[in-house]
Amino acid sequence: MEPNDTGRPAYHSSTILKIYVYGYLNRVQSSRRLEREAQRNVELMWLVGRLAPDFKTIANFRKDNGEAIRLVCREFVMLCRKLNLFADAFVAIDGSKFKAVNNRDRNFTKAKMKRRLQQIDESIGRYLGQIASADRQESAIAETKTERLEEKIKTLKQEMKRLRKLEVRMLEAPDQQISLTDPDARSMATSGRGTGMVGYNVQTAVDTKHHLIVAHEVTNVGHDRRQLSTMSKQAKAAIGVDELTVVADRGYFRGEEIFDCDKAGITTYLPKPQTSGNMFKGFFGKRDFIYVAEDDEYRCPAGQRLIRHTQMQEQGQTLYRYWTSVCSKYSIKSKCTTGKERRVTRWEHEAVLDAAQARLDRDPQKMRVRRETVEHPFGTIKAWMESTHFQMKTIKRVSTEMSLHVLAYNMKRVMNILGTRALIEAIRV
Ligand code: SF4
Repeated sequence: MEPNDTGRPAYHSSTILKIYVYGYLNRVQSSRRLEREAQRNVELMWLVGRLAPDFKTIANFRKDNGEAIRLVCREFVMLCRKLNLFADAFVAIDGSKFKAVNNRDRNFTKAKMKRRLQQIDESIGRYLGQIASADRQESAIAETKTERLEEKIKTLKQEMKRLRKLEVRMLEAPDQQISLTDPDARSMATSGRGTGMVGYNVQTAVDTKHHLIVAHEVTNVGHDRRQLSTMSKQAKAAIGVDELTVVADRGYFRGEEIFDCDKAGITTYLPKPQTSGNMFKGFFGKRDFIYVAEDDEYRCPAGQRLIRHTQMQEQGQTLYRYWTSVCSKYSIKSKCTTGKERRVTRWEHEAVLDAAQARLDRDPQKMRVRRETVEHPFGTIKAWMESTHFQMKTIKRVSTEMSLHVLAYNMKRVMNILGTRALIEAIRV
């Protein structure tokens, strides 16, 4: 922060940072509430030397210093590293959905828009039907009823007009979705059925030994498929090791991501999602075909050799196709394919995925470690947020807010692990 040449001297950045750290450690995140606390809470009055900035100053600090706040959070992770708290070089990666300020009714996707327009249409139809039956009664009461219904129809038509305008804006958006309050917030499905929310998907890499958050990132993409290598690399850099072990759930499974991690010296543990269409149909799945690396061929359930025949490009990936021409001779074929022969596809880097699967088969306990690790930070932070939404709008500012949450969470963890005195000492050194 640069002080102004004229006017009243500004508050030192450390004063307001202290207010925020105190606030996030004590479940007070709103600038208005922090303003009040600074005037009446003895602990906070002592901490900031009885200075009492107004809520605007407090809010502006968080709004204008996002990058610096993120650096403070990173600095604290560096301190943990110096204190040798990441000695195991083993992290669990997970994402969790957090609510944005944006209400669900102020977010529009194609499906939601279609549903709303349909509901309005149905309501208008219903009201028109009621008007028609009121007309047949021809009494004074019926007349008032008709007027009331016509008024309702008018309001619905106005709403329809408004939605049509929003639909144009929505279809112009790159992902055909708009949020009116927080433009960056996105509609996201959550694990419970029919419990979608408008918010952000926060990614974290959590150290499995002490449950400290090593790296975090706020995204507005509803799934985790493209996050594994980014988060793993961030965690690796933060911990400062050459080799890192990472565990994640099946939502992160993507060949390219695992291959990227492998190239970067990151050992991954994650299960493969069961999405094989053949298995759903009751046919043999790909896992029933054994790959024989030295011969570059598959051995099928009938013991036949499937030889590599063709190569193709699909979405930037080189794929090979394997098959045998003797399928029709075997009665087992009815459990394998409805076609002339069963063909098996292999990605050029599939050996990396096979190795990852073999690792997980040898050590399935890693998944238990994952569950026990990631639940802790997300559970704690959400409890601190008291099931409410982020205070700020747009991904940039929400990221700042998340950094403050992560900083507070990590500080509290280290206080529990080492004690407050030891932490103060370590910060002073
Ligand atoms: S149908 Fe072909 S690939 Fe499938 S089990 Fe029979 S021989 Fe093997």
